[in-house]
Amino acid sequence: MKAIVVHEFGAPEVLKLEDMPTLKPGSGQVVVRIRAAGVNPFDTYMRAGVYAIKPPLPYVPGGEGAGAVDSVGEGVKTVKPGDRVYVAHPMTGTYAEYTLALESQVHRLPERVTFQQGAGIYVACGTAYHALHHQAKAHASETLLVHGASGGVGIAAVQIARAMGMTVIGTAGTDKGLELVRREGAHFAFNHRHTGYLEEIMIATHGRGVDVVLEMLANVNLGNDLKLLAKFGRVIVIGSRGDVSILPRDLMARSASVRGFTLWNISDAHAADVHAGLDAALETGIVRPIVGKEMPLGDAARAHKEVMEPGAFGKIVLVP
Ligand code: NAP
Repeated sequence: MKAIVVHEFGAPEVLKLEDMPTLKPGSGQVVVRIRAAGVNPFDTYMRAGVYAIKPPLPYVPGGEGAGAVDSVGEGVKTVKPGDRVYVAHPMTGTYAEYTLALESQVHRLPERVTFQQGAGIYVACGTAYHALHHQAKAHASETLLVHGASGGVGIAAVQIARAMGMTVIGTAGTDKGLELVRREGAHFAFNHRHTGYLEEIMIATHGRGVDVVLEMLANVNLGNDLKLLAKFGRVIVIGSRGDVSILPRDLMARSASVRGFTLWNISDAHAADVHAGLDAALETGIVRPIVGKEMPLGDAARAHKEVMEPGAFGKIVLVP
């Protein structure tokens, strides 16, 4: 099979398209023919060798994808060859024609969801769902700021929160991104590259502030997020790329809190909740993954450059 292989950590150019041996499922395992693989910022940190998790070299990147079940091992009960599925953190990387997964890492893909959309379900939509429900414990009557709403996680958060009944404010850095954020359900959308947008957010809440912030770039925004919070507000740190300083009194004055998490640490109970919630949301159309760009598998290096550039528009996926 064709796969992208990383032999050494480094720049995007270390992603090489190569031939690899075919995968065979062991007991309780499933081989999935990948039709689209999701590209995530953490794939780039891992490839560069700067992520908390350093896979043994060589490795095939990719933590999620969608396709059809190719073969199943002994004892597999929930899926059979030909079933449309998406995979979440499988045993082998998804930047490949095939991936090997445990049965528990394979989930049915509703008919209305394309393989390209399915490629970006777990990391983006799973993160958004977990952040809102388990970390922020958000309520329908609350106001949410999705700080960085035009990318994979942000758009899913906007869709889920709007369906919950929250008042949703989203930010993006381009007109196209702002239009997407409004189209997918935000009541208000502001440009995080414009001076004065923080004041605009405050005005949109009539000076009260927001109850929950989902933060995609904490190293830039955390200090300001605290000043945007209403009393008892919560900032959930989803993404950060460096240091930041904050004024603790901004937290104290509001009895507010800051929490961070990574999806890798999610408990089994929360993971089960995320999949149950997402399955329903995908089936009913509440979650509608947005695919901004499709690229051939061999263009993995270009995908890694583009996922780190400004001007996000949903997900980038690789098509083997
Ligand atoms: P993405 O698709 O690349 O989107 C990045 C988002 O950040 C875009 O909406 C982008 O907006 C926005 N952004 C850029 N500059 C910003 C600024 N100054 N202020 C606010 N937002 C800004 O990435 P993603 O998949 O949504 O992931 C977002 C972040 O969360 C990444 O850092 C990723 O590594 C992290 N993440 C963490 C977890 C976890 O488990 N904690 C899981 C998934 C992702 P424009 O491009 O429109 O400017």
